[in-house]
Amino acid sequence: MAVLEVVGVSKTFGSGELAVQALKPTTFSVEAGELAALLGPSGSGKSTLLLSISLILEPSTGRIVMNGQEVYNSGWTGIDVRRFRRENIGFIFQQHNLIPFLTAQENVALVMQLNGASRREAARRARELLGYLEIGHRADSLPANLSGGELQRVAIGRALANEPLLVLADEPTAALDTNRGTKVMAMLRKIARERGSAVITVTHDRRMIEGFDAVYYLDDGRLSATEPGGAQLHLPRGGSPEAARAVAGGEGKP
Ligand code: ADP
Ligand code: MG
Repeated sequence: MAVLEVVGVSKTFGSGELAVQALKPTTFSVEAGELAALLGPSGSGKSTLLLSISLILEPSTGRIVMNGQEVYNSGWTGIDVRRFRRENIGFIFQQHNLIPFLTAQENVALVMQLNGASRREAARRARELLGYLEIGHRADSLPANLSGGELQRVAIGRALANEPLLVLADEPTAALDTNRGTKVMAMLRKIARERGSAVITVTHDRRMIEGFDAVYYLDDGRLSATEPGGAQLHLPRGGSPEAARAVAGGEGKP
C-alpha cells in the first residue's frame, strides 16, 4: 500500500489578480521504504509541495491519502490534523531548529513526551535513536557544542522520534559541506531501507541523490519525473519496480 497518495493537489496563494498558483494540480505516490528526491529551481514550488503533504499548509484542491487514511479532500476531512501529523510525519528543515538549552537527547525525547511517552521511556528511546544515527556519543551535548552535520543528525532523530511512516526533508544539506551533506543523505537512505519509512527530500545538489528510487522535478509549479528538455530522472530501484512507480503530471483529478 502506498504510504502517501497525492491526487490533483494544487496550491494557490492570494486571490484575484494577485493570485499565484505555486503548485499546479499534482499527482504522485510513494511506497513504504521508498526514497524520493524533489529537484527544481528556487521558487518552483518545492517547499509548497512539501508543506502541503506534511499537512502544515492547507492545499487549494485535490486529495491526500496517508496509509489508507484520507486526510484531505478539497478540505481537511475532519481528522485531528495536528495529532495525525505528530504521529505520522517527521519533518527535517534546512536549519536544525533544535532548542538551544536542551541537550541532543532532550531535544529528541521532548517530541516523544509530547506524544505520550513517559520521561524515563523517552530518555531511553532518544538515546537509542541517537546511537542508531551514529551520534550517541554526543547525546548529552548542547546544540552550541555540535557541528553542523551533527546538529542535522540530531534533527533527523527528532523527526524520527515517533516512528513516522513519512519523513520529509526540505534541503536538509543546504547548510552543510559536501562531506557532511553526503553523510546526512546516507542517514536518510538508511531510514528508508531499514525502518521502512517513505522519505522525500528536496535538494539542490544532484550529487546527493545517488541511490534514490525516484527523482521528481518541479518547474514553475509543475511536477514531472523528467527534467525539462531532457533526461529521464526517474531511477527505478532494482527488484522493486512498484516502489519506483511514479505517476507525475499536471492533470490529476481531484
Ligand atoms: P521553492 O521551495 O521551490 O523555492 P516555494 O514553494 O517556496 O518554492 O515558492 C513557490 C512560489 O510560491 C513562489 O513564487 C513563492 O513566491 C510563492 N509563495 C510561497 N509561499 C508563499 C506565501 N506564503 N504567500 C505567497 N506566495 C508564496
Ligand atoms: Mg524552498
